[in-house]
Amino acid sequence: MRFETQAIHAGQEPDRLTGAVVVPIYQTSTYAQPEPGRHLGHEYTRSSNPTRDALQACVAALEGGTHGIAFASGMAAISTVMTLFESGDHVVSTDDVYGGTFRVFDKVFRQFGLEYTFLDTSDLAAVEAAIRPETRMIWVETPTNPLLVVSDLEKLADLAHSRGLLIAVDNTFMSPALQRPLELGADLVVHSTTKYLGGHSDVVGGIIATSNDDLAERLVFRQNAVGAVPGPFDSWLTLRGVKTLPIRMRAHEANAAEVAGFLVDHAKVQDVIWPGLEDHAGHAAQKAQASGFGGIVSFRVKGSLEDACRVCSSTRFFLLAESLGGVESLIEHPAIMTHASVPEDQRRERGISDTLIRLSVGIENVQDLLEDLDQALQG
Ligand SMILES: *Cc1c(COP(=O)(O)O)cnc(C)c1O
Repeated sequence: MRFETQAIHAGQEPDRLTGAVVVPIYQTSTYAQPEPGRHLGHEYTRSSNPTRDALQACVAALEGGTHGIAFASGMAAISTVMTLFESGDHVVSTDDVYGGTFRVFDKVFRQFGLEYTFLDTSDLAAVEAAIRPETRMIWVETPTNPLLVVSDLEKLADLAHSRGLLIAVDNTFMSPALQRPLELGADLVVHSTTKYLGGHSDVVGGIIATSNDDLAERLVFRQNAVGAVPGPFDSWLTLRGVKTLPIRMRAHEANAAEVAGFLVDHAKVQDVIWPGLEDHAGHAAQKAQASGFGGIVSFRVKGSLEDACRVCSSTRFFLLAESLGGVESLIEHPAIMTHASVPEDQRRERGISDTLIRLSVGIENVQDLLEDLDQALQG
């Protein structure tokens, strides 16, 4: 099965009882057993549920993995990965990670004795220098949010494995339609399925994919033990979204390319950050390891914080909201909204300036999107 076919068929046989073409929502917490100790494949929905199983099998296939392990949110998936480790263990992480990832590493797992070094994982020498005897994993996000810094996954995976470490990749920004980290050597791929996999801004979820049986067994144990699982309806909604992932990603990217080109030429725009632009520092690496550049475009307006805020408040189709990856276009101001928890000096150091705006380019008619941005920029 090829990718587009997997998105629609992997893990999704017609229902054996009725022939239903769509995997039913098995909205049940428990399952009747013919006799004590013998069951028909499921005992209790925290442990397993047929709708969730279908989602897990489908996303595992799309990522080129053999196991999918679904969660109630991206943060639940990320947190469950962290429960693989013990007090004293050390993790090297991308510095520009999703804010919630930084928060749970820094504020929750540090309490349990885990240690973290945050650095620019596009700098291989810096990653190598940060590895200690206690290091267990490299955690990578690429491209990052909101500055779209690209890290070389194959080189990081080689480095990790040469030092006996795991490497996990948060693939939320690319989705498996554009980037498959397991094929580049990653041990674990994590998603917020809230974003491109779900794709319609109507459900929160997370998933881990892997081809490592031992890791899968330990993570499935934790999925059940910790219990941050998605409900049957949320699993179904996500699975429904996944079916159109391949065509949505193509549409997001085509619109993002037009939007980026339009902004580059706009008199009110200072600079544009999109890995598809040839002057982007990660352009070559992105081209080599992914089949596209994605739908997120960041840019800086000329002027002040007030000018950036005015643009964010003046668009009609780009809705002013956090999150990304849905069919509708969103606009946001990272310094005030998604990245407010990053201390101001660090924001400045990384380039999350007061004039920076992030777009999640949707799949509306691109002419409407360009006109919308133009009228907002003209003020
Ligand atoms: C949104 C997001 C998360 C967190 O996922 P939730 O579903 O909101 O818990 C993690 N990583 C990235 C890159 C994200 O964009």
